[in-house]
Amino acid sequence: MTTHLHIDWTSCDGRGLCTELLPGVLDRDDWGYPLARGKSGRERTDVPLRDADREAAHEAVRLCPKLALSLWDGEKPEPGRRRPGQ
Ligand code: SF4
Repeated sequence: MTTHLHIDWTSCDGRGLCTELLPGVLDRDDWGYPLARGKSGRERTDVPLRDADREAAHEAVRLCPKLALSLWDGEKPEPGRRRPGQ
């Protein structure tokens, strides 16, 4: 099962901490908001992760000052709902 990193742009302040922690996964747009590298559509903000990127993704979720990041596996959770421990 693939873990995904969800980016909530409505909460993000675009300062880019997550892009520093996940440089191979995330890039910044012209305004500083994180975007998935090489993805389009839904995968720009629901980013599938490689196993090697999971630890850094957990760190990004933990350190995001705006609580704009979450992780999910399997079916996408309903908007606005975080799973315990994420
Ligand atoms: S760490 Fe959080 S607030 Fe900062 S750019 Fe990433 S998602 Fe946005």
